[in-house]
Amino acid sequence: MLNDIGMSPAEFDEAMHPPYASEDLLTLAMLSVGIDPDDFDTLEFARSHFMSRTCITCPRRRKCHDRMQAFDFEGHYRDFCPNSENFLKLLRKRCDA
Ligand code: SF4
Repeated sequence: MLNDIGMSPAEFDEAMHPPYASEDLLTLAMLSVGIDPDDFDTLEFARSHFMSRTCITCPRRRKCHDRMQAFDFEGHYRDFCPNSENFLKLLRKRCDA
């Protein structure tokens, strides 16, 4: 599984220390911005762009979590989310389909 997201066991262990480390913020973020996290193309894109790795190692997890709690992630993620460009690409792909 770690190979799939491009992380070594040591990197994963290190990544378990930031705030809300055990929460799947990537899935919540996708749902928040209107992306189906279970769609095959989404899963392929996320895997090839190491989106899980970006989330797991993200230094903005506390802010991300707080925005999710306030239900306004979608209005602010472009300002702080390291995956924002990937979310925008996924949204564009959905429009092109
Ligand atoms: S800010 Fe973006 S990259 Fe960071 S944990 Fe949240 S969704 Fe993932």
